[in-house]
Amino acid sequence: MAAARSALCLDCRAALARGERCDGGARHRVVRLDEPTERGRALDEVWGPPHLRARKAATVGGTSGGTAGLLDGCGGCGELGDCGGAVGSEIGAALLVVLVVAIVAVLLWWIGSKIVHAIRRHRARLRPRGVKWRPGGPSALRGTVTAAVGVTAPVTDAACAAWGLRLRHGDALGGDLMLRDGDSAGLEITLADGARVQIPAGRLRLDGTGERIDGADRHVRALDPFATAKDPFLPLAHDRGEELRLAVGDTVELLGPVEPRPDPTAAAAGYREAARAVLVPVGVPWLRRVDA
Ligand SMILES: [Zn+2]
Repeated sequence: MAAARSALCLDCRAALARGERCDGGARHRVVRLDEPTERGRALDEVWGPPHLRARKAATVGGTSGGTAGLLDGCGGCGELGDCGGAVGSEIGAALLVVLVVAIVAVLLWWIGSKIVHAIRRHRARLRPRGVKWRPGGPSALRGTVTAAVGVTAPVTDAACAAWGLRLRHGDALGGDLMLRDGDSAGLEITLADGARVQIPAGRLRLDGTGERIDGADRHVRALDPFATAKDPFLPLAHDRGEELRLAVGDTVELLGPVEPRPDPTAAAAGYREAARAVLVPVGVPWLRRVDA
């Protein structure tokens, strides 16, 4: 089970536990999402200050109103019909020509107004500010997941050795990443030379190709208790989610630094065995799943 997270790094959008500092950088700004004032800072970062948010909401609302106005204009068809009726007292052929011209004109006007409306709506759409997804660089430390305590992925409920989650927004400014999260209950990786790496239980960074998922709102609500479905301005606004799961047998690369530690499981086996070491990540573990 993942440790409860209720904080967000504004600079790399990592989900963090309350009071936890971001591993992404010493200057990264972390805010709590379960505290209204701090959550307000997240909203300012993602959507701009309150007066700007109100203006954006009004613009989009106004454009929608414009649609109604444009469609209301269709009432003019009836008047055209009446005109046709008036001309009908004249010559029949002339009536037909006028009718055809009128219908074509109305049709063109209707198509044109639809296009104008679509352009206005596209320009006025609400666009949050995200950050760029920064995957880790190449790594020579490659191995296989050989053991895991096992966890459940938060959105799909699938059993796995570790999970990663990314929320993205296709219309976002600055970068499309809105949230990244990941966790394990502890796992072991055996490198090609036989060395073992122990990943402790807790938060981790998991790179690799994710699977598109629905239902990430559930994870958003767990992180942001003030999130409501109708609110157009959410700190964790997104239009798609990606889940990445690690299983025993998967090939992984270690992207962060590791250091040797005495192997606690070998301590009881005697002096020679106790001298054996395992590798452990320095700081928050950072892995990449290598696709076959
Ligand atoms: Zn950060």
